Amino acid sequence: KDGSLDKIINKWASSSKTSSQVTSLTSTTSAGQKATPVKSKYVIASDSSFAPFVFQNSSNQYIGIDMDLIKAIAEDQGFEIEITNPGFDAAINAVQSGQADGMIAGMSVTDARKATFDFSESYYTANTILGVKESSNIASYEDLKGKTVGVKNGTASQTFLTENQSKYGYKIKTFADGSSMYDSLNTGAIDAVMDDEPVLKYSISQGQKLKTPIAGTPIGETAFAVKKGANPELIQMFNNGLANLKANGEFQKILDKYLASESSSASTSTVDETTIWGLLQNNYKQLLSGLGITLALALISFAIAIVIGIIFGMFSVSPYRSLRVISEIFVDVIRGIPLMILAAFIFWGIPNFIESITGQQSPINDFVAGTIALSLNAAAYIAEIVRGGIQAVPVGQMEASRSLGISYGKTMRKIILPQATKLMLPNFVNQFVIALKDTTIVSAIGLVELFQTGKIIIARNYQSFKMYAILAIFYLVIITLLTRLAKRLEKRIR
Ligand code: GLN
Repeated sequence: KDGSLDKIINKWASSSKTSSQVTSLTSTTSAGQKATPVKSKYVIASDSSFAPFVFQNSSNQYIGIDMDLIKAIAEDQGFEIEITNPGFDAAINAVQSGQADGMIAGMSVTDARKATFDFSESYYTANTILGVKESSNIASYEDLKGKTVGVKNGTASQTFLTENQSKYGYKIKTFADGSSMYDSLNTGAIDAVMDDEPVLKYSISQGQKLKTPIAGTPIGETAFAVKKGANPELIQMFNNGLANLKANGEFQKILDKYLASESSSASTSTVDETTIWGLLQNNYKQLLSGLGITLALALISFAIAIVIGIIFGMFSVSPYRSLRVISEIFVDVIRGIPLMILAAFIFWGIPNFIESITGQQSPINDFVAGTIALSLNAAAYIAEIVRGGIQAVPVGQMEASRSLGISYGKTMRKIILPQATKLMLPNFVNQFVIALKDTTIVSAIGLVELFQTGKIIIARNYQSFKMYAILAIFYLVIITLLTRLAKRLEKRIR
């Protein structure tokens, strides 16, 4: 009566017009058109292992339908692209936070996603389907009661599983990437996986001992996406390019290349990757470059952390209360936040915040974000090491020196610090080892350091036992060498 109902309906019904505008994007574009790129280069984010759409071949290049398609379209339309493969969920985050301009990752057009993404015309259509081991006796959704189903975070399959969970009573385990999910299925840690039908079928065609006992459920068309309202020309160029590739038969060729027969030449490896030696031989370049990033991260962030840590450590023993409080706040805040959240906050959170204020996309480089997070984290601990070292020097020495008329600064420099440094050194070495190991945590933001490199390799060949053993040995050797070096340095300083 008082018009509230009408207001509510108007409020929401008028906004539903925007979503129907998005749907009109799926009208067919005709071939022969061109749009003009606005940026000199577009960053395209994708999945890390989602064969046959995107995966690594044995020489560690990303290939697949999506990779070939976006490259062919960029060439057809004359724009530059840079492809990154952080994984599906990370790619979604990258587009939303402006780290990437678009994403292509076998991505389904769902109603929920239309609220935050603009989609191109579709180039494929997929079901989500349940996959189990060949030996499993799961034959229906009802059989899943009490069982654990794995799914990749952020996917349409995850939505499907969540919606039907109370009906069938299974547990859901969420994975960051396809490789760890399939690994877990193979090792029996989970009973089933939910993934896109072409992906499961493809892995079965490649010799994976899996089966799909239940028919799939449609999850939508597969399309290219940009952040809602951003880079409209990119969608236009994608649609134009797709239309051209369809017209000249190029698109069909790409599909045939990956889907035609079981013996996809793309994924047959030249070197036997089932032995440790074969794995090393085939991947040493990639592993070394991952190691390089890990070392650079550890060394640079530790150097920065020492500077920040010493400053705050000195603050914490300063005679001025305000400095002590500042130091205490810094240590408490940084030490109280898990490193992974700190890294995610810097990499995704802050750019998202800046964009919401300035309206400008301001992405931050993943290496820089990782370095900042590691530096702050280690700095907080180093500040405490410095405080502990200084306070371990008996307070009588400061008093004696001051009563002889020597200034605070001079007493610190000449009497307290030389003794405190000796006490701190072993802790510094310890902290450095921790910093090096902590670099694995920042792989969460998609940074391809040593650990992430290993995961990507496993995504391709499923050799998790041997590959993780190789990684463990890599870290062990590096850390042992560096601690030896540090010990020698320590002795010399003493
Ligand atoms: N098609 C599914 C989705 O869009 C999965 C995509 C993927 O895992 N790369 O959610």
